[in-house]
Amino acid sequence: MSFQPVLADIHSILRSYWGFPSFRPLQEDIIRAVMAGQDTLAIMPTGGGKSLCFQIPALASEGICLVITPLIALMKDQVQNLKDRGIPALQIHSGMSFMEARKTLDNALYGNFKFLYIAPERINTNLFKEYLPALPVNLIAVDEAHCISQWGYDFRPAYLTIATLRGEKPGVTLLALTASATKAVQDDICDKLQFGKKRVFQQSYERPNLSYSVFNTDVKVDRLLKVVQKVPGSGIVYCRSRKRTKEIAEFLKLHHISADYYHAGLTHDERNEKQENWVKDRVRIMVCTNAFGMGIDKPDVRTVIHIDIPDCLENYYQEAGRAGRDGKKSYAVLLYREQDLDDLKQQPGIRYPSLETIRHIYQCIVNYIQLPAGAGKDLYFDFDPEEFTRIFKLNKLTAVYAIKALEQEGLVEFNEQFFSPSTVVFCCGKQTLRQTEADYPALTPYIHFLLRSYAGIFDVPVPVSEKQIAKRLKVSVNEVKQHLLQLGSLRIIIYEPQKDTPQLRFLWNRMATENLHINVENYQKRKAEYTERIKAATGYATNSKECRAQIIARYFNDHTTRQCMICDNCIEKKKNRLSRMDFSGLQSAITQALVNGPLTMKELMQQLQAPDEAKVRYIIKHLLEEDYLEMGETGYAGKLSLKKKGQDRNPARF
Ligand code: ADP
Ligand code: MG
Repeated sequence: MSFQPVLADIHSILRSYWGFPSFRPLQEDIIRAVMAGQDTLAIMPTGGGKSLCFQIPALASEGICLVITPLIALMKDQVQNLKDRGIPALQIHSGMSFMEARKTLDNALYGNFKFLYIAPERINTNLFKEYLPALPVNLIAVDEAHCISQWGYDFRPAYLTIATLRGEKPGVTLLALTASATKAVQDDICDKLQFGKKRVFQQSYERPNLSYSVFNTDVKVDRLLKVVQKVPGSGIVYCRSRKRTKEIAEFLKLHHISADYYHAGLTHDERNEKQENWVKDRVRIMVCTNAFGMGIDKPDVRTVIHIDIPDCLENYYQEAGRAGRDGKKSYAVLLYREQDLDDLKQQPGIRYPSLETIRHIYQCIVNYIQLPAGAGKDLYFDFDPEEFTRIFKLNKLTAVYAIKALEQEGLVEFNEQFFSPSTVVFCCGKQTLRQTEADYPALTPYIHFLLRSYAGIFDVPVPVSEKQIAKRLKVSVNEVKQHLLQLGSLRIIIYEPQKDTPQLRFLWNRMATENLHINVENYQKRKAEYTERIKAATGYATNSKECRAQIIARYFNDHTTRQCMICDNCIEKKKNRLSRMDFSGLQSAITQALVNGPLTMKELMQQLQAPDEAKVRYIIKHLLEEDYLEMGETGYAGKLSLKKKGQDRNPARF
């Protein structure tokens, strides 16, 4: 592939590759800092446009940009996205074979590619280390950079290996990106990534069109129903358990609300289909665990409802923030009952099991997969948590969190959403191929189709799609699978059907349980940080005085955010003020006056004959904020009118 970039001007790059007329807030500042060679931390909400911040500087210079990103699905999206724009990009993820990875690295070295996306687990492999010195890296971008902080809410040990890149590539600028980070996590990111002089850009946490509210209620589902009945349009309902997603979707359907459910325990195909239905508005409400939403760019989500309190504001802010990307008024609603607060308080004890428990579960694991002592490093094992806990009579949660602890110590890696597509590679000579075609005419179309459609299929296993083959050959998917299996048994091809079973990977050889190393001090500190995060989340839920947007912003060290005036607490405050102003009397007078059609402010004042104009203005402002009234484009000089019924969306009245 030949690619001639190096348009030095960042605005021309933005226009010619993306077709966007201008930068979003902070993008240009970040890009300039990076191009000036400064290590930079960029904090921008999801959907804010972080990718361009490294993609543009990389395009503006010679060489290849290394992008570290943890999730396969997101990596694939981004690489596809670049390719669609004519920008050559590569990826190495954890579901790839050694051969595929080597081929990719060869391309990175000799192929004039601009981006190499890589999973953090791959950095420390011998293969990557072999190629790294020769790679002409122009920038290192670390996406989801908060994953490097042990004290943060989503620590991934593999991120710590990123620092080794600094030694290998001294002088290469590093850009770290994340959607949210507390002060402590910001400092930790800069520290762990060995920033020289640190530049931090933080976008305001303000979301002026997002109205937050919290309801303390014993019957959460009733309140949920009210909200989705009241606010039309697309919505997400977040639950903490998988089982509940289904129950609640059923409940909504019973009340004639279009709904479906989603969680990580479903198969890859099911998840894709459900997500697609929701994105395309064929399903209105998605009831899900927090496995849903990553990388989805749906602008017109009107409500995000949490039916259980999340255990940290980082997640809450991200998830709630999926509402109203289009800038139109939207609602983030949190429902809880007193019992939930107590349950949450128990969490640190459950999430951080005792060291004996962790050791015991490690022993169960090696028995389960029958791993001999001294073996295991870098091997993957099918790991079914249900079966595992059943066989060893373990409490499921305890097992899950013990495994998590082992992950955080860098001993194993558990990947529930591990998905590797079907692959095919030819393993016979041309002669055999011809003979097979003669002997098995039914197989010929398959052989031809594979050879025609998948480049390189004679050298390395390439991902194939049974669905696509079925469509093109006008047969059923099952027939395709049968024929591929037949080709496999004839030793014409090696066919690896797709895998969707959870995988456990060993990062170290099996050790004797008594030698299992766990850093107790770190473990305790992580537990303490987790307890703090829970406190902040319950603090948010139970605070009925302060502006919710401000509570969230302050948590992330953003002290610039103004009172939103549209969260439940702000509205309550306003109402108190309004009631002292004879609110309901004036409100009905205003509504009456506007029944017969729009009026300018002046006309309205004349009709009301109200003595105190300031008071009327204040009430009108409130009615505008609450979407009772609309105002013409020209602001207060234009006409005011009543909003049509049904458009009225006062969150205080859910
Ligand atoms: P993030 O990584 O911060 O979640 P992305 O980089 O994925 O966000 O960008 C989100 C969306 O915004 C993408 O569809 C992207 O094309 C779009 N976008 C980014 N920058 C701009 C811009 N300057 N003008 C218009 N759209 C933009
Ligand atoms: Mg991103």
